Amino acid sequence: MQSSAREHARKDWDTYFMDIAYMVSTRSRCHRRHVGAVLVQGKKLLGTAYNGAPMGVEDCEEAGCMISEEYELVTNEQGEQQIVKKQRCIRTIHAEQNLLLFTDRIDREGSVVYVTDQPCWTCANMLANSGISEIVFHRPYSKDDQKVRHLMEQVGIIFRSLDMYEPPAHAAMEIKQ
Ligand SMILES: [Zn+2]
Ligand SMILES: [Zn+2]
Repeated sequence: MQSSAREHARKDWDTYFMDIAYMVSTRSRCHRRHVGAVLVQGKKLLGTAYNGAPMGVEDCEEAGCMISEEYELVTNEQGEQQIVKKQRCIRTIHAEQNLLLFTDRIDREGSVVYVTDQPCWTCANMLANSGISEIVFHRPYSKDDQKVRHLMEQVGIIFRSLDMYEPPAHAAMEIKQ
């Protein structure tokens, strides 16, 4: 009885590694988005990364976000397509890219990336060529969803979202769209 209660309280591996990704994301100093990513082989943690400016360069907290504006085609709640102006911070190296910069190819072969946010197109493209075999994410990023999913199908990378997952309360920030 007692041991089954303990089993129940124990976190599954997906929750365990996504919790770590969220904790890592709290290191980010971009006010627009905190993203964390971890590399896992089997059940071993091989690397952690978050979005940030290159080392030795002023970050978003010191210099403010570097905003780029672009127009995007989005589908509204009524199913109509609209052109919307969106702002993004381009000062940071994305968490997934930093993860690739700070891990070895040999460690990545067949490994899993847990990332707090669905990868953007550029990150997905790089991950597709990185040796990893699975990507697990939590918050959706609809902008690049279709082309990223198509890419993952083409390269045979398992692409999973943790829909029922609840991040640690103090680790998840609200995202400015
Ligand atoms: Zn920023
Ligand atoms: Zn990205």
